[in-house]
Amino acid sequence: MRGLKDRTVIVTGGANGIGAAIARRLADEGCAVGILDMDAAAGEKVAGEIKAGAALASEASGQRGNSLEVRAHSASEDARERADDTRPEAGSSARGARVSFHAVDITDYDAVARAVETFELAFAPVACLVNNAGWDRAVTFLDSTPDFWRKVVDINLFGPLNVNHVVLRGMAERGFGRVVNIASDAGRVGSSGEAVYSACKGGIIAFTKTIARELVGKGIILNTLCPGPTDTAILRSFLEGPDGTRIAEGLKRAIPMRRLGVPDDYPGLVAFLLSDDAAYITGQTISVSGGLTMHG
Ligand code: NAD
Repeated sequence: MRGLKDRTVIVTGGANGIGAAIARRLADEGCAVGILDMDAAAGEKVAGEIKAGAALASEASGQRGNSLEVRAHSASEDARERADDTRPEAGSSARGARVSFHAVDITDYDAVARAVETFELAFAPVACLVNNAGWDRAVTFLDSTPDFWRKVVDINLFGPLNVNHVVLRGMAERGFGRVVNIASDAGRVGSSGEAVYSACKGGIIAFTKTIARELVGKGIILNTLCPGPTDTAILRSFLEGPDGTRIAEGLKRAIPMRRLGVPDDYPGLVAFLLSDDAAYITGQTISVSGGLTMHG
């Protein structure tokens, strides 16, 4: 993709599912990738796999093995990191995979700010952001409780607001930024058993359009990608019950392409939206869902 190589990208929720596929693809495109996720074990595994993949590619192309850089950060490592001037240079694609993992809960604004600062000290200011972390459990609205609503809103609305707020400020100062917010078709057309989650995702769609207007003069482009039902942990949790197979078959029948999404259905569009090929596209909401939703 034009202009994407060597860009610094933060991917939230990059430890699993769709976010992990996006992180891998952006590393393949030559980006320096910072994975922010609360699942430390899985996040470090994905970062390690990106490193291993780059090492294999590097060996195959005869590059020197010491061109790899993988870092796993925790808050306690921040100070050491700052004192230790081993920062890889941004813009040196010959270095191979540049990836760091940061264990962070996106509902904690200060923790997000620290993680972004650590990533920027290690690599370079953030050029691109993919807000992908999310969570839900299936429950009808009348059976749900205010405590559950708060958790869903904290993760799926306040979380992306935190990350956007932290990252967009720097982007605005520097006059450049590309953002993809991952919402859901649930935020466009609703989804039974996901009332509050759908409200959050609809909110992310409207938020993205508004910020796209507010920041277009600062060189910042924002778009929303809406996945449909996709075979990851979130969907599997919905299908755990005795009716799971029947519901999954019903979902497939409703999708014109007659299959659920898989994580690899999304990274191509994300890479495009973060690249210069998409430089005249902002504020758009794009469904990637096998034709489940078709908007004019
Ligand atoms: P997933 O459960 O496989 O991955 C979600 C990731 O987000 C996990 O790694 C998890 O640890 C992380 N996460 C959750 N809460 C977090 C928090 N508070 N702080 C930091 N990280 C946190 O799910 P997925 O399907 O890959 O979901 C990715 C995105 O796609 C989500 O925004 C989800 O709402 C959206 N989406 C998924 C589907 C689907 O059917 N799977 C459909 C539409 C939209």
